[in-house]
Amino acid sequence: MEYISTRNKTLRVKGSTAILEGLSPDGGLYVPESVPVLSLSELERLAGLSYVERAANIMKLYLDEFSREELLSFAEQAYSSDRFQAASPAPVKAVGGDHMLELWHGPTCAFKDMALQMLPHLLSAALQKSGSALNPLILTATSGDTGKAALEGFKDVARTKIMVFYPVEGVSEIQKLQMQTQEGANVFVQAVHGNFDDAQSGVKQIFTDLEMIEALEQSGWKFSSANSINWGRLLPQIVYYVSAYCDMVSLGAVTMGDPVHFCVPTGNFGNILAAFYAKKMGLPIGKLLCASNSNNVLTDFIRTGTYDRNRPFFTTISPSMDILISSNLERLLFDLSGQDDRLLCSMMDTLKSSGRFTVPGPMLQEIQSLLWSGFAGEEETRSTIQAYWNGHRYLADPHTAVALYVKSLYQSEFADKTPIVTVSTANPYKFSEDVLQAIGSRGKDPEDLFAATAFPIPEQIRLLRTKPVRFSGAIDKTSMASAVLGCIQ
Ligand SMILES: *Cc1c(COP(=O)(O)O)cnc(C)c1O
Repeated sequence: MEYISTRNKTLRVKGSTAILEGLSPDGGLYVPESVPVLSLSELERLAGLSYVERAANIMKLYLDEFSREELLSFAEQAYSSDRFQAASPAPVKAVGGDHMLELWHGPTCAFKDMALQMLPHLLSAALQKSGSALNPLILTATSGDTGKAALEGFKDVARTKIMVFYPVEGVSEIQKLQMQTQEGANVFVQAVHGNFDDAQSGVKQIFTDLEMIEALEQSGWKFSSANSINWGRLLPQIVYYVSAYCDMVSLGAVTMGDPVHFCVPTGNFGNILAAFYAKKMGLPIGKLLCASNSNNVLTDFIRTGTYDRNRPFFTTISPSMDILISSNLERLLFDLSGQDDRLLCSMMDTLKSSGRFTVPGPMLQEIQSLLWSGFAGEEETRSTIQAYWNGHRYLADPHTAVALYVKSLYQSEFADKTPIVTVSTANPYKFSEDVLQAIGSRGKDPEDLFAATAFPIPEQIRLLRTKPVRFSGAIDKTSMASAVLGCIQ
């Protein structure tokens, strides 16, 4: 299986190259040249396997350079029971009449762990296969969840170093503490004065700075990215959709072969795109419900066919979805256009120059038969948290609540009895203050939330305040490059 660029389909690379490079040199995203098919009998076989075995089997279909034993060993390490503290790494739970796919039982309590626990294994193996002598230095700017999950994934991974920049003014108290107390001999965390855009643009500049690249190479290093456009992050996400479907069958919520819908809280479009690939493989998925917060650029796009980022940016209580450019959408559009790389180039150019583009009519029809969309404002998000707490004693984080609200919008608009799985992307303790406020209780700390709800508090959050702070202080954006050089000395 080879991978092609969404902006030039004659550019073909192996899976290991796609994972090592992250982004294609022409600015496009790597996609598999064709999507492997999962037959119903194969699905029935997977239903009898553990999560780890399901992961190895599905990833093997996309990465034929990797042996089954290799992939099984990666999955065993990535999803081991000391890293994922639940019966399954991605359990499906029945809540009232709903089903929740909980993706936050990993080390950092957010769904990013599902991919970032696996990516370092894939990257290390890809590095070995490539025979490159240069070691990867992972550089990431984060608005919260990605940075911590990447640090936890890459800590003490041989031949790698990771440096994460976060904006002093842009992350929650818990998220900051999680990063300041990060363990590992190869990790570097640096706060930057300013907002997320400052940190992000600083990283982008360093990434493409020729002098920096050369200085790195001379010391034996090469920049790499743990960003969500890397195929190595998408692939592990396909697994949990297949796994959730198998679990829905075991729970008796659906008969093997009948459809389920998935409702996904969406930002950069990575999570929901993985569901699209699962559907394309043959997994019986009906509709994909795309849930946004007030930054509802995707809701408008799916309804009208025009993507327009020229709009106010809102800071919400579901910050991981505060995004106006959903990078992974490019992969969906490439597929739905019949791999029309020229159309993609022209749409992405227009997006860059004017902030908007419109898809052709037939493509809009395809988008609408695949996806349905809605959004939740701040009040709807809070009242949904409260309703699930009062009604079912289920504590949803704000991102999950956005999805639950959009699921209810869909159900009130259509008389559709197809079971819906709502994807739950963060542990509520990560957003203790907002969750406490939503359920009408006082306080802001995880301990306050525990006192108010007795909802199980994850150990890694309970112990956060007892851990030594390793990384404190903040630097100016202009000092970011020297901080990077400092960590390869
Ligand atoms: C990253 C994130 C999302 C958005 O996922 P995308 O793949 O960017 O669409 C939703 N919820 C949480 C908690 C996240 O961390």
